[in-house]
Amino acid sequence: MSTPKTTMSGPVNLTTPLQEPNAVSSCQECLGITLIRTNARSVGDYSKVSDANVVLLTHLREDHGVQ
Ligand SMILES: [Zn+2]
Repeated sequence: MSTPKTTMSGPVNLTTPLQEPNAVSSCQECLGITLIRTNARSVGDYSKVSDANVVLLTHLREDHGVQ
């Protein structure tokens, strides 16, 4: 009778989100994008959350000069 293998083969790497970009509080476009992101997360639409982060990062870089 063999001993069942009880150890895991390795850590399970879920895609951990990077630090999410933050809106510039005085910017309507930033706020609009973060609103979309918040709504998407509230319904579990994480691909839309990810899309919103990409849009926000691009906007921050192009319109706010954030690197
Ligand atoms: Zn902005």
